[in-house]
Amino acid sequence: MSHVEDVVIIGSGPAGWTAAIYAARANLKPVIVIGVPCSNPAPVLPGGQLMLTTEVENYPGFPEGVSGPDMMEMFQKQAERFETRVISADVTTCRFSQASHELELSNGEMLLTRSVIIATGATANWLGLENELRLATSGGGVSACAVCDGALPVFRDQPLAVVGGGDSAMEEASYLAKFGSKVSIIHRRDAFRASKAMQDRVLGMENVEVLWNKSVTDVVGDKKISGIEMTDTVTGETSTLDVRGLFIAIGHTPATTFLEGSGIAMDDAGYVDLSRGDTRTNIEGVFAAGDVADAIYRQAITAAGMGCQAALDAERYLAEL
Ligand code: NAP
Repeated sequence: MSHVEDVVIIGSGPAGWTAAIYAARANLKPVIVIGVPCSNPAPVLPGGQLMLTTEVENYPGFPEGVSGPDMMEMFQKQAERFETRVISADVTTCRFSQASHELELSNGEMLLTRSVIIATGATANWLGLENELRLATSGGGVSACAVCDGALPVFRDQPLAVVGGGDSAMEEASYLAKFGSKVSIIHRRDAFRASKAMQDRVLGMENVEVLWNKSVTDVVGDKKISGIEMTDTVTGETSTLDVRGLFIAIGHTPATTFLEGSGIAMDDAGYVDLSRGDTRTNIEGVFAAGDVADAIYRQAITAAGMGCQAALDAERYLAEL
């Protein structure tokens, strides 16, 4: 008879590794499937979005800050210190059933398991410009997370720009307005889709301006961003803007395509539905944690907290089998 695991964790960001640490310390001998690198169009790496983050200053316990990749290496070491089996592959197909869940991996391996924790995260959407991605991955002042990077000294008292017109763009702009000399919100239309309350808060700030009907067509700067080029979406006119920081807030895409057809309930945007109030999905024995199930907070610390919750929920579920 094939071996059946107690718990398989899919994904290796803060949620996945934290789930592994808790499951391992509970003697569940977790298996973690960490993914393989790909481009989407920015690089997507095992370890998740923190692998593209230069400096993490808001994770408690690191008073001097820590680089995103270093932090993920520490998470992994901590999980491996206990009994965690790490598999470098993607999960390609999931067949969930009451008795045991079947996961097909890209390396040809097949896993049978009593419980699954989905922690595959979400990737920030990018404009897809070559210079945008180059400066985002080299710490050149382009970022997809103002709360993560906005307070860095390099952005203090500098002109900054936010791209987008949703709640995230409003939130990022109001956060950045505390640090930057001026924040320009660049939106491709003449109306925001953000909630009225969040729009009003931002539009009332004296160092925030909105550039309507503009799309960013290039990012200028060698090692650090010095400006952007824009095209008016109505008139076609081109213009430039000097900025020292560019924050892309045009939405996120949860990594859930491998779940299509699996029966896992997801919302319209593809996030795993956790409306039962904890980390349980609609399928018994299948749990989710981190950004794959959280469109709102999206922080390393909240993902790690959910990873802990998912491991505790899985442990309780297994104990009752
Ligand atoms: P969103 O609501 O999907 O908004 C994305 C914005 O980016 C839109 O304004 C869109 O423009 C623009 N955009 C998309 N692709 C673009 C492109 N290629 N070039 C230029 N602009 C582009 O995403 P979100 O703001 O991240 O919000 C996601 C969900 O989280 C929403 O449900 C939101 O309410 C929620 N959220 C809530 C809070 C809160 O309550 N505190 C905070 C953040 C997010 P168009 O409008 O022209 O399509």
